[in-house]
Amino acid sequence: MLDEAAPVRGALPDLASYDAILVSSSAGKDSQAMLDYVVELARRAKVLDRVVVVHADLGRVEWKGTRKLAEEQARHYGLRFEVVSRIGRVSPGGKDASAPYAKGDVFGDLLDHVERRRMWPGPGNARYCTSDHKRGPIRRVITRLHREHGRRPFRLLQCIGLRAEESPNRAAEPQLKHEIKPLKTKTRDVDTWLPIQHWTEAQVWRRIERSGVPHHPAYDFGMPRLSCVFCIFAPRAALMIAGAHNRELLASYVRIERDIGHTFKNGFAIAEIEAALEQGETTNNDALDGAWNM
Ligand code: SF4
Repeated sequence: MLDEAAPVRGALPDLASYDAILVSSSAGKDSQAMLDYVVELARRAKVLDRVVVVHADLGRVEWKGTRKLAEEQARHYGLRFEVVSRIGRVSPGGKDASAPYAKGDVFGDLLDHVERRRMWPGPGNARYCTSDHKRGPIRRVITRLHREHGRRPFRLLQCIGLRAEESPNRAAEPQLKHEIKPLKTKTRDVDTWLPIQHWTEAQVWRRIERSGVPHHPAYDFGMPRLSCVFCIFAPRAALMIAGAHNRELLASYVRIERDIGHTFKNGFAIAEIEAALEQGETTNNDALDGAWNM
């Protein structure tokens, strides 16, 4: 049964050696295929009860129905499902707070963040969308699981559905990594595993079809990826599809872009997408090269 791109030799962790196995799910195709694969391995190792699925809820900036679908996918396997979100939390202030939020401010969604920062996220250190809205909130679940374990020595395996095909950066990531601070503490060890790093897109879809678990309709519109409707790494053709199906949200992006005077991507204004749609330009799925270069 495990015929789908076996992990690189030596990088298949011993699932039974972990107290918890945390699978990050965007509800997208890679998360979905990874979840099906991890469930199969966990069943074989008789540790399915240690698997927890976590979804970072991004609110209005992600495709509609994403959170519900992530939950449905987790429940299909009878797994515990956790949702985390930065939205609505109170800023602690100090150096941990993202610059535009003072102590006591309530964090908004990514668009609120962009408006306050007056700058869109970008590659490298400027990618605060991922660090502040996904990785940071997910870290809180790791802390919670450790607390539930009585703060005793705790080993957690974090599973992430990145694939090498998506970008050179993702290809260069180690498939299994022992984390250092802040994930590692005196009594906690965290390993990060990329279970489907070497799978092809075709293998991902085969796995999903065979699982019988529903996928998000955005893929049927032609989107190659899910998560944020408008991703700073998306090629123009994907932004066109996203825009055609999310005109109201697109209008919010365009308004913010105009207000802050900073273009959505370096040298590319998202207003161009709105203008193209208004001029009747149709979406062109053939122009999708899949290169998001995340
Ligand atoms: S999907 Fe794109 S814009 Fe959204 S958090 Fe990820 S990198 Fe940032």
